[in-house]
Amino acid sequence: MKCNRCRGSAVVEVRRHNAAYCKGCFVHVFREQVKRAIKQHDMVRIDDRILVAVSGGKDSLALWDVLLELGYDAAGLYLGLGIGDYSGRSGEVTKAFAAGRGAELIVIDLERDYGFDIPTAGRKGSRSTCAVCGLSKRYVFNRAALEGGFDVIATGHNLDDEAATLLGNTLRWQTGYMARQSPALPGKDGMVKKVKPLFRLSELETAAYAFLRGIDYVVEECPLVAGNTQLRYKDAMNAIEARSPGTKAQFFLGYLERGRPLFTAADDAELSACERCGQPTTGRFCAFCRARAQVVGERLGAPMEDRDVASELADEVMPAEIYGGSP
Ligand code: SF4
Ligand code: ZN
Repeated sequence: MKCNRCRGSAVVEVRRHNAAYCKGCFVHVFREQVKRAIKQHDMVRIDDRILVAVSGGKDSLALWDVLLELGYDAAGLYLGLGIGDYSGRSGEVTKAFAAGRGAELIVIDLERDYGFDIPTAGRKGSRSTCAVCGLSKRYVFNRAALEGGFDVIATGHNLDDEAATLLGNTLRWQTGYMARQSPALPGKDGMVKKVKPLFRLSELETAAYAFLRGIDYVVEECPLVAGNTQLRYKDAMNAIEARSPGTKAQFFLGYLERGRPLFTAADDAELSACERCGQPTTGRFCAFCRARAQVVGERLGAPMEDRDVASELADEVMPAEIYGGSP
């Protein structure tokens, strides 16, 4: 197998492009795809301060690696979820990556900083484990970005994540979510801009990039993943892709071009400051403060059914996919 670019010996095959690359050319092509995504959606400018949501998985570490290599000012944010050995190992590889690159890493720990962990929240609260986990991630990333003066939050969502999310939204005709599913969501009223620079690259391509770059990442899945709907949609997309390479890209990239303009985001609610934490919300208290109060047994004085549209719509749909990649 010969490299399509230099005719050297290829090490990676990209079936959907009917192409193969040697190590150097694959890394080059991967970074070019990221540059193209950034330019196409005006994601970040070279003087922006970027906060990368890092889980210790291949996608978020590959993203951080590319942004640093492209010369961006990119700090990482790792959120400790308190999920036993899985969280322990995720934290270790993330810290080792940051130390190896001399990159700034912010570490926040749910238990230490907010008084609860995700397994406890899943058992005690009214939301599913993945729902409260996703809510916590969105809240902490946005708050840390605001408080740290960052211009944009970057997450490692890849093409597989985006195609699976779109499939889930389409199967339920959740047109409001569909309208918001975008590689770049502008900032607004205390909600920091969010971008997904890997959206043109598949999970396999991201894994190949991480491997070829010698990035040590957590391979094992979160032990609480059972029942995560995103994984079922990924399986379905993978079954189609195996028979028809290129389907995921046609589905999602085609949607961005031709489908998305047909839908309009339904909810543009006014945001105000949460009375407990000051973060943006549409109710008196934000969804995170209400979920936390339920778990730690704190009284907030607001009815629990008081929906916080801002927090729930901050990301377009699946709570599990805040970092991108397999949850
Ligand atoms: Fe959180 Fe993902 Fe684990 Fe669910 S699968 S608990 S969203 S890390
Ligand atoms: Zn709050």
